[in-house]
Amino acid sequence: MAKITNRFGGHDMLAPFTAGWQSDMGPLIIEKSEGSYVYDINGKKYLDTLSGLWCNPLGGNEPRLVEAANKQLNTLPFYHSFWNRTTKPSLDLAKELIDLFTANKMAKAFFTNSGSEANDTQVKLVWYYNNALGRPKKKKFIAQAKAYHGTTFISASLSGIPALHHKFDLPASFVLHTDCPHYWRYHLLGETEEEFSTRLANNLENIIFKEGPETVAAFIAEPVIGGGGVIPPPASYFDKIQVVLKKYDILLIADEVICGFGRLGTMFGCDKYNIKPDLVSLAKALSSGYIPIGAVLVSPEVSDVIHSESNKIGSFPHGFTYSGHPVACAVALEALKIYKERNIIEIVNKISPKFQEGLKAFSDSPIIGEIRGIGLVLSTEFVDNKSPNDPFPPEWGVGPYFGAQCEKYGMLVSCVGDYINMAPPFTLSLDELDELISIYGKALKDTEKRVEELKSQ
Ligand code: PMP
Repeated sequence: MAKITNRFGGHDMLAPFTAGWQSDMGPLIIEKSEGSYVYDINGKKYLDTLSGLWCNPLGGNEPRLVEAANKQLNTLPFYHSFWNRTTKPSLDLAKELIDLFTANKMAKAFFTNSGSEANDTQVKLVWYYNNALGRPKKKKFIAQAKAYHGTTFISASLSGIPALHHKFDLPASFVLHTDCPHYWRYHLLGETEEEFSTRLANNLENIIFKEGPETVAAFIAEPVIGGGGVIPPPASYFDKIQVVLKKYDILLIADEVICGFGRLGTMFGCDKYNIKPDLVSLAKALSSGYIPIGAVLVSPEVSDVIHSESNKIGSFPHGFTYSGHPVACAVALEALKIYKERNIIEIVNKISPKFQEGLKAFSDSPIIGEIRGIGLVLSTEFVDNKSPNDPFPPEWGVGPYFGAQCEKYGMLVSCVGDYINMAPPFTLSLDELDELISIYGKALKDTEKRVEELKSQ
């Protein structure tokens, strides 16, 4: 493993997604940000290729977001949205989101503080809805293997990532997982993308049939799987899946937490793939990561049922202290305004061809199996012999070595084992993109050399 010199020893935080030995070595401490860059406490500058945690498309120092927060803090720093009281920013944001999401008609927005809470809320809404309709058995959820939906009890259960389940006694028994739509890794010999999608839709139908359609409530999917390794769906995947869901009266939930707000070159992932969801989860870029906020959008069909059931039982008993926090909503409203004014879709579509082509040009590397992506999101997967069936031994730490080399050269990437995920900010200039590609190339050369050495030992 490369020696990293910008670490300062152990600390008192139980750090998310961090091993004990890493905590003991000490974290990389980031002190400030500027455009597409962040700086550590030694003043070293890094190109931030994951926009924080996929959440900060407007980059490090957008004064309008700071001003929006300040203004709201000075007027009304907090009020809640319980018992038919609320604030103007939360009402305005709900309207904005419903107008902005056009892939399917939405009627209501429910606010959360995170993507995990949004997906927890989805399960409760769906159960409330089916109970109200007198279908108490219709409670099971089907999710995609490798999709990421969060880490709370319910959202981690929905996530199709075994590491989020092991040691936590998850997933909960109402969650089933179906195929990951990753053509390169899972297609059969000679199978086209279309045929692959047909097989996956048939497998989904078989699960529904086996479980009993009267027990299956919803299917949740990311338009493009993000944290699980950036997996754009194969041709016609969502068309075929949606036919199956319709047939058995199963709700479709689109988890737009990464794809939402321009990342794929369309405002939402649902626009890209013609997905017509009943419910939508949003977070991350909703406030460009400047402040925690998430949301659930609810179709008229579902919200009408919730409306009349809440009249019957006297309430809709779900909500968080900070649902619709006025400061978070004010920042999100300003972020949406900026996205529109600057035409982020145009920006993403302008830079993304060079981003995708510039990095995919490294696909011939003997240690790369696949470089895949769309818009401003991309993953590199390191494997041996260019085969999805030949992973490198985990103890070789190929992905982490690449990440450490990038860090040495002044660039931060996300390494999940031997997957390297990138989702750069939309502030990325063409010069910064050249820098990104050049550092990637240097780190790749170092990593190829390292693998050669390890093989010869
Ligand atoms: N859904 C998706 C698609 C995500 O990528 C994430 C976070 N990476 C979540 C949900 C959970 O969001 P949070 O971390 O804000 O709880």
